[in-house]
Amino acid sequence: MNTNSKRQSALPVLTCTDLRRTYPTAGEPIVALAHATCVVERGQQIALMGPSGSGKSTLLHILAGIDQPSSGSISWPALGDASSLRPGPVGVVFQSPSLLAPLNVVENVALPLLLSGCSDSKATQRALEALALLELNHLANKLPEELSGGQAQRVAIARVLASDPQLMLADEPTGQLDHESGAHVIDMLIAASDASGAALIINTHDLCVAQRLAIRWAMHDGVLTTDDHSSHASIDHTAGSSASC
Ligand code: ADP
Ligand code: MG
Repeated sequence: MNTNSKRQSALPVLTCTDLRRTYPTAGEPIVALAHATCVVERGQQIALMGPSGSGKSTLLHILAGIDQPSSGSISWPALGDASSLRPGPVGVVFQSPSLLAPLNVVENVALPLLLSGCSDSKATQRALEALALLELNHLANKLPEELSGGQAQRVAIARVLASDPQLMLADEPTGQLDHESGAHVIDMLIAASDASGAALIINTHDLCVAQRLAIRWAMHDGVLTTDDHSSHASIDHTAGSSASC
């Protein structure tokens, strides 16, 4: 950690107020996100839960600085302005495949480090270390087209871990994985957050994943609820279906 990040570490990682995201159509606009107000502190580990279509990905993309809200405000006090978030302090695991087809696995994982100014040898070394953490070293020289969907998703997670970000955002990261691989991926994300103090937000509708995280947010019809009691209540209510976690 450099002096600058030490000085800033008491600041929230991100704060947002009354975020709204609509998409224009010929008729009524589609409201993907109706209301989200939240603060994320350093080291917090958050599950963002909600049914398909409730706005989880929309919110995650705005929190990552990839998409802009139609209204409302967002800032990253501990991280800097929106133009300096990626590559750098924010790492994102996307729901859909995101590896670059012409690059092999180790090149894909090293790319954000190279873009951040790392030397070639340092970037490759850190990429190989991250791949080893996820037990993917044997795939280092494969092209994305040679990977299964689950392997590609784990490489995308290695790409985030290699950059040691201060905010990690993962959109349904276990959706394509079997139970054991999924649990391993969540272990890695939590361990990285524990070790570095990075904040972690995982979009999921899997109760087994949500139960691993200390804080649970709920999304319904584009409205974010960060009240812990309601989140815990919804977990307790469905405890029967999560008995096999
Ligand atoms: P979730 O991740 O919870 O499944 P999304 O954030 O992907 O939900 O989507 C929320 C709503 O916004 C859905 O109704 C979806 O169809 C709509 N939506 C998302 N992206 C777009 C887009 N680019 N254009 C129009 N509608 C969109
Ligand atoms: Mg989604």
